[in-house]
Amino acid sequence: MSFLESRAIVLQVTDYGESDKIVTLYTSQFGKLKAIAKGAKRSKKRFVNKLEFFSLLDVTVVPGRLSSLFLLDNAGLINPFPALRENYHRYTAAMLVCELVNQWTRENDRDENLFQLLCWCLHELAATGSVAATVIFFQIKMLDLLGVGLQLDHCLVCGKMEQTALPHHFSPAQSGIVCAPCARSQGIGRMPVSMSTIKTMQVARTMPLERLRRLKITRHSLAEMAAILQLYSNFQLQREIHSWKQFSLA
Ligand SMILES: [Zn+2]
Repeated sequence: MSFLESRAIVLQVTDYGESDKIVTLYTSQFGKLKAIAKGAKRSKKRFVNKLEFFSLLDVTVVPGRLSSLFLLDNAGLINPFPALRENYHRYTAAMLVCELVNQWTRENDRDENLFQLLCWCLHELAATGSVAATVIFFQIKMLDLLGVGLQLDHCLVCGKMEQTALPHHFSPAQSGIVCAPCARSQGIGRMPVSMSTIKTMQVARTMPLERLRRLKITRHSLAEMAAILQLYSNFQLQREIHSWKQFSLA
């Protein structure tokens, strides 16, 4: 048997049969993987308090011989993020980012930067910063890392982006912005978005993680960004992200 080790974040946990659990992990070494934790429902010692949503672990897994399902051999708890479990707003935010990573990624598609981004996000959510802004910044950065980032620099139809009194529009199918005149003349775009929101998203995507906390966003822009990102995920993934329902910007 080959034993593989990695640092990992728990994205999802489900019961399996009478005594086992299946955990979905995002690992620094192998990307997303699913592993069966034998006896995890019964054993009080081996995996106690470890196989919880968004816990940071050091895991040892064994590749399955007949399927993509790994065997979870061992898990060491590095950080259970207690601050996220004691506050409902922060808890729902952490659940949302885990569901987003789970839905947007494929198994065994390693991305060390995405793992680091997820760790940054959980640490920020556990700290005193803005929960809503952290979740928004996380998504903008995640989409860029996955190569499905939004086109924000120019209109997808005419290539320009001029300041107008009318709002521009977001098109989830075309992954970007259609300017106000084009949206009007061609009937494209499903969601109005102001120029100041577009500019803030452009700044956020290039700003280093350690400086993002200082970026100020108006409540109006925060609401527009959340609406755009929710629509985009639901449209591109062709499924609803359930955690959006529990999460609020307040
Ligand atoms: Zn245009």
